[in-house]
Amino acid sequence: MEKIERLQQIINRCDRLVFFGGAGVSTESGIPDFRSVDGLYHQKYEYPPETILSHSFFMRHPEEFFRFYREKMLVLDAAPNAAHKKLAELEQAGKLKAVVTQNIDGLHQAAGSRKVLELHGSIHRNYCMNCGAFYDAQYIRDTDGVPRCKHCKGIVKPDVVLYEEALDQKIMEESVNAISEADVLIVGGTSLAVYPAAGLLRYFQGEALIVLNRSATPVDGNADLLIEEPIGQVMARIKVR
Ligand SMILES: [Zn+2]
Repeated sequence: MEKIERLQQIINRCDRLVFFGGAGVSTESGIPDFRSVDGLYHQKYEYPPETILSHSFFMRHPEEFFRFYREKMLVLDAAPNAAHKKLAELEQAGKLKAVVTQNIDGLHQAAGSRKVLELHGSIHRNYCMNCGAFYDAQYIRDTDGVPRCKHCKGIVKPDVVLYEEALDQKIMEESVNAISEADVLIVGGTSLAVYPAAGLLRYFQGEALIVLNRSATPVDGNADLLIEEPIGQVMARIKVR
């Protein structure tokens, strides 16, 4: 049987679907994966992305951090693609219970998804490190150098989990709960290389594990269905009933 057909059948039967996704979900929206070789490497920065996007670098070189961040991370003109839209439809139809994502671009919400567990935070939330005042992504885009709080001049920091920083415990717990209650888990657009992705998947005890990724992942061997094609193209062919 054709793989898309099998995916359709599994989705038709399930009623507690959870989606776990990563950078590959947004590449079809034009957002580069900074870990991929054709992504942001070999570009005009003196440090590798993992260094710039670390807590200690942020504290020591905020100017350089925000130069990189505004140019590479703060993507505000991207639109949701077929994968984001289909997942939102599946949620509206009552089939999908949660999207757990490693992405920070907010595109699932832009597509209409409501239950989105953002393991690595979001570019759309920014807080003054001094007084906690909230700022949206446009504020970061429209300021120069290190963005400062209008009220107290504190540094405004994106609510994005940097390297060396801990994940939000509440989001982690909610993700564990969603995954452990799922009957079907779709892992999409992630090679599961980044903590805590692979660990979270161990909580899945449902009926079918589906992997939609263009390259190999550590759970391919456990997958009931493995489709190595761009996820937007795959999801575009799924019908929601
Ligand atoms: Zn402030």
